[in-house]
This record gives sequence, structure tokens and C-alpha cells, in this order.
Amino acid sequence: MTAALRLGLLGAMALLLSACAAIERRTDDPVVVDDLRLYVFDCGRIRLRSVNLFGLADSDTEVRELAVPCYLIEHGAGRLLWEGGLPSELAGIDGWVEDRGGLAQRLDRTLIDQLEVLSLTPEDIDWVAFSHFHNDHVGAAAAFVGSTLLIQRAEQLAAFGPEATQYFFDPDLYAALADAPRRVLDGRHDVFGDGRVVILPAPGHTPGHQVLFLDLAHTGPIVLGGDLYHFRASRRLRAVPQFNHDREMSLASMDRIEVFLEQRGATLWIEHDAELFDSLDLAPAFYD
Ligand SMILES: [Zn+2]
Repeated sequence: MTAALRLGLLGAMALLLSACAAIERRTDDPVVVDDLRLYVFDCGRIRLRSVNLFGLADSDTEVRELAVPCYLIEHGAGRLLWEGGLPSELAGIDGWVEDRGGLAQRLDRTLIDQLEVLSLTPEDIDWVAFSHFHNDHVGAAAAFVGSTLLIQRAEQLAAFGPEATQYFFDPDLYAALADAPRRVLDGRHDVFGDGRVVILPAPGHTPGHQVLFLDLAHTGPIVLGGDLYHFRASRRLRAVPQFNHDREMSLASMDRIEVFLEQRGATLWIEHDAELFDSLDLAPAFYD
């Protein structure tokens, strides 16, 4: 056998083998999904006169404005909405809406309107999860009655129980979800089963507060931190808001999530951090 023939045969065998492998992969192996995407939406803005309520002195930070984002996670196996933003009805009012306590809120466009840039409606969303049930996180919740709610057991008891307002919840915003499909969680939950979209318990701000780990291929691993911290200064000073459900639980969650971030080499996105938010590209742009 000449060297050329031998090489030719080897090449043919290699081709045959790779063709077999390709066929096998198509038929037997699970589909490898590597197109995890994160879309960011502008779900409002909150303006404060003071940060004292957040366990900070006014000299600790100059920040007086909070961003309110919503996020859509698109995975080969389904779509997850994370956070519902400020109440959708605020979008019908021009400019800031101020309350007696000196807190002002504004929402320029509803999340539902913004989903249209992706040609999506709430019916296209398989799962919804909120870091917690305060009004700046469930404002569009009522539109997602056809999605399956992912909620921690402790948050469910508080938000759907008879004393919801004691936890500073506004049940009118999410009453529509009372009969919606629901999956009650007791801690960590791997949403799509491949470790790339994982809900982590971080109670304290509310009884069942949770955060979301995303293993993005190019952006890198991140954690959407809910209200674990409201400000960068909160993280620096381990400041616990006065209105948190449980101070010790809050501190323990901060410690646990910080260890997780360190172990996974993940970046924390403080959701209300307006400086971070203003640096992000909104949908239809995405992070992958
Ligand atoms: Zn919040």
C-alpha cells in the first residue's frame, strides 16, 4: 500500500467515523443548548430624599435614584421572566408620582409594551419569578397568569396569606396569580436542569427573598441580586434596611451569596444600581 493510498484510507475512515458520531449525536444525545440569553428592560425609576431607611447614613452614598429593571432569560428549553418592575398603571401617568414620604416613582413604558420589541407577549413566557413581592418587583405580575410562578414557600405564605400588607406587600398587584400555575420552592432551584439558570434562596429582605444565578457564556457568570443590596454602599457596609423582614437572616444571606460569588467567580448585579443599569444595553440587545 502506498503512503498516499494509506493516507487516503485513513482520511476516509476518519470521515466515516465523524459522520457516525454526528448521526449518533443527533439521535441519542440531549440537545446541547449554549444560546442562553439575558434581556434587560427598563421597568421604572425610584427617587429618594434620604437613604436612612436603607440602613445608611446620607453621607454614605450620594445616590438618591434607584433603577428598576426587569429581565427576560431565554434558554433553549423555555423563557423565564425575572422581576415585574413598578406597577404597570404608573405608565399612564406622565413624569414622577410622589408619595407623602418623599419617595417618587416613575414608569415610562409597561413591560408588556417593551416585550413587543422581541415580538413576545406574556403568553410566550413559560416561567415567572420575582426576587420578592414588594411593589417595585411585581408591578406587571398580573399579566402573567398563564406562566408558572416560581416562589419560595416562605414568600408564598407571606404574600398570599392574610397579613400580606404587614410585609409591605400590595396584594392587589398580584392577586391575579392566586390561581395561576405555581411551583413552590424550598431553597435552590435549577430552572432548566442544566445548572445555567439557578434560583438561590436569600431570605431576610422578605421571608422568601431569592436571587438568580446565570451562567452566561460570553458575559460570564452573574447573579441578579434582587434587593440583597440596594446600593453599592449597602454591600460595602453590610447595611440592612430598616424595613427588612429579618436583620440576622439578611446578614446571613449576604454572607452566603458573597461566598457563592467568590466560589463561582460570578459578578453581582445590584438590580437597583442606577449607574450599572445605565451602562447596560436594553432589549432587543442581549447578554449571552
Ligand atoms: Zn426593590
